[in-house]
Amino acid sequence: MNYKIALIPGDGIGPEIVAEAKKVLDQVCRVYGHSFSYEEVLLGGASIDVHGVPLTDEAVETAKASDAVLMGSIGGDAKTSPWYQLEPSKRPEAGLLAIRKALNLFANLRPAYLYDELKGACPLKEEVIGDGFDMIIVRELTGGLYFGERKTVVENGVTTAVDTLTYNENEIRRIAVKAFDIAMKRNKKVTSVDKANVLDSSRLWRKVVEEVAKDYPEVALEHMLVDNCAMQLVHDPGQFDVILTENMFGDILSDEASMVTGSIGMLSSASLNETKFGLYEPSHGSAPDIAGKGIANPLATILSAAMMLRYSLDLDKEADAVEAAVQKVLTEGYRTVDIMADGMKQVGTKEMGDLIAERI
Ligand code: NAD
Repeated sequence: MNYKIALIPGDGIGPEIVAEAKKVLDQVCRVYGHSFSYEEVLLGGASIDVHGVPLTDEAVETAKASDAVLMGSIGGDAKTSPWYQLEPSKRPEAGLLAIRKALNLFANLRPAYLYDELKGACPLKEEVIGDGFDMIIVRELTGGLYFGERKTVVENGVTTAVDTLTYNENEIRRIAVKAFDIAMKRNKKVTSVDKANVLDSSRLWRKVVEEVAKDYPEVALEHMLVDNCAMQLVHDPGQFDVILTENMFGDILSDEASMVTGSIGMLSSASLNETKFGLYEPSHGSAPDIAGKGIANPLATILSAAMMLRYSLDLDKEADAVEAAVQKVLTEGYRTVDIMADGMKQVGTKEMGDLIAERI
């Protein structure tokens, strides 16, 4: 099959790690008989340097015309980079928010998977880790408290701030459908997280999720209150498969879930719209402190490319092959500096990409 991929190398280590993900995708094409055509898109600081703005209309059009977008990361060192002398709406991060909005990306996917080989980086005790964990957090990204009406008023000399949390049934239904579709590609369990003992929006959330669940009889659905979920993530993370939740709860829980894996250079992510289209990127930033040194870990970006194969292109077998190659390289003892441990073989960014590609 032929696919059009928009590539956003971005800033800092972005170009280095995206080059390795592309190397791996090219190998997938050779082995499985696909062809990917790539179009490069400037975003963030890289776009400011050329166009004076962090995102252009042409960049959005190129992204929209593709089957999926694979991104490195954007941004620079806020203390030293001239990009941060600009007003906030012209800085690199504004470009990222704008492209997410322009592409209507409402579903954020953040997997948290513990590799046996990297257990040493996990802050949890052995007995809590058990056989490890493999979950994905599906977070609603465009509604809820962060996008509700807000105001700050002074009445009778007292200042009051108001934020509103609004969800309509359509917004809940479309994210729930995504979570159940993803569960069908995994272990067929959805934990829907809310605060239905207090919030009306959560009671509607629960009702709509239960309606959607009827279309997925193979998927087991459970509801969990958000406070309990925060505890369960560090008490028994192995119980989760797909966690479905609203914007603010997901913001907090996805960071908690990433931390329990302990390895920032390994964490992939995706943001999807109503169709199969998505933007795939590592969870980490542009790491300006190590940019250009050839030591960045490309695995989060390579694993994001695997997510792209699975969720946007429906190439599950190929996605499995990339994930298996990452597993194999770790088992063989190769590590970039950020995940280095005693007795392992340290490699740089390019060598790690070569090792993965050779094992596809
Ligand atoms: P960061 O994730 O870039 O770096 C945090 C630490 O982790 C650094 O020590 C870095 O060297 C290390 N690190 C990160 N990724 C690594 C990798 N792949 N391999 C090895 N080590 C890695 O976070 P930060 O320093 O807070 O932010 C740097 C810049 O990135 C800022 O401009 C920030 O706004 C931006 N940022 C962008 C995104 C994005 O593009 N989605 C996300 C987060 C931060």
